[in-house]
Amino acid sequence: MFNEVKGLNEECGLFGVWGSPNAAQLTYDGLHSLQHRGQEGAGIVSNDQGTFHRHRGLGLLGEVFSRDPEALHQLTGDAAIGHVRYATAGNHGVENIQPMQFEHPEVGEFALAHNGNLTNANQIRQELLAKGVTFQATSDSELLGELIQTSNEPSFAGQLIAALNHVHGGFAYLLMTPNAMIAALDPNGFRPLVIGELPDGGTVICSETCALDQVGASFVRDVEPGEIIIVNNDGMSIQHFTTDTHLAICSMEYIYFARPDSIIRGISVHDARKRMGAKVAQEHPVKADVVIGVPNSSLSAAIGYAQASGIHYDMGMIKNQYVARTFIEPTQAKRDRGVSMKLSVVKSVVAGKDVVLVDDSIVRGTTSKYIVRLLKRAGAKSVHVRIASPVLKFPCYYGIDIQTTKELIGANNTVDEIRDLIEADSLAYLSVDGLVESIGALNDSANHGLCTAYFDGNYPTPLYDYQAGFDAEVTRLGLYEGAN
Ligand code: SF4
Repeated sequence: MFNEVKGLNEECGLFGVWGSPNAAQLTYDGLHSLQHRGQEGAGIVSNDQGTFHRHRGLGLLGEVFSRDPEALHQLTGDAAIGHVRYATAGNHGVENIQPMQFEHPEVGEFALAHNGNLTNANQIRQELLAKGVTFQATSDSELLGELIQTSNEPSFAGQLIAALNHVHGGFAYLLMTPNAMIAALDPNGFRPLVIGELPDGGTVICSETCALDQVGASFVRDVEPGEIIIVNNDGMSIQHFTTDTHLAICSMEYIYFARPDSIIRGISVHDARKRMGAKVAQEHPVKADVVIGVPNSSLSAAIGYAQASGIHYDMGMIKNQYVARTFIEPTQAKRDRGVSMKLSVVKSVVAGKDVVLVDDSIVRGTTSKYIVRLLKRAGAKSVHVRIASPVLKFPCYYGIDIQTTKELIGANNTVDEIRDLIEADSLAYLSVDGLVESIGALNDSANHGLCTAYFDGNYPTPLYDYQAGFDAEVTRLGLYEGAN
């Protein structure tokens, strides 16, 4: 995927099945369509009448299971949960690969998978250490399991509710006990989480609707903020661990992270991206001969820009799908090499032309500069960069791996400075209002149900562990005083 070379990464993808034969194979297939959400590791736990089987490892899902061709067959049972991981917290070792497993005196054992990032993880870790807990891993995903284990509540259900009220930040959880699959979503619903039904009556819960399509499941509903969904052999029931909820789904899901064929809360990601492209064309028109997009995540926005501007759209760049993982490791040198291995220009499309290059975002600027140079080397007369999202200025603490502004070119430079740094002839970004209008209001609250903190510093929750660091960043950069 292109996001690894860009350096802006989603944390994880979740997929679970209850009540269907070949649950592990379905989970494998579903996770495969969520691979864009995490490439560092993958794992599946199956449930065969109360006995759990697990296989997990580092790397892409296909790599993890091809290293042990028997592994998938050994994941027997008619229920399973699985996970693909990109690390935003914790190290890159196999111990952090999920689902994690825990022993429990009431339910026997349970497995747990997490998408998101907790903002009070350090605080909870200290509390648990004081209680004598020894951790299996270093990521914050384990903390919910340990909170359940150490809770004073008398039942597993009560322990889970107490634990969900203790963790803060962005979280979508998928748990499995011998008797149930359980999902929970944080009070802001930062990450997408959907429920589907298989033709045989089995239930699926997963991060994106593209995974429902992959396994032939029909969409039932979104998981709502503050909900606990319990699926067992009697069917599905809904509880709430809190009713103090304020929808703030991550706008970057629409801009960049989610697959374009997914539908998030009733809005097609592809259509939202086209509207973003159209809106930036309205806000920042330019005379040009051709519109091209950076493959793959910017193609929808580029089509939207072309349709709104009336400028011809063409396939000016192509992506090599077969780049080895060695080149997508998170270091700058490898990222640079990754870009050069991944992207090429179709010379006949751009030579001698004034080109509009549509991209979905600029993180560090190194990729943009490289692409502008590639286009000019291929004979483009001028390159006008249009970004179909606002300037990335603030860190994300809810599940994206940019937790400092130091690396964000938009936090440290004006738009004119960025234009010069990436060697473009012109550069313009979509406005925050334009972004919200393009996605479409999800509710009538002040934030329209969206998190736009990356762009405007309006964090929907207290930052807990991150507050001091954030304050220091604001001071260092003289950023928006009222942020948070
Ligand atoms: S800060 Fe940005 S990336 Fe993080 S949840 Fe909000 S919109 Fe998404």
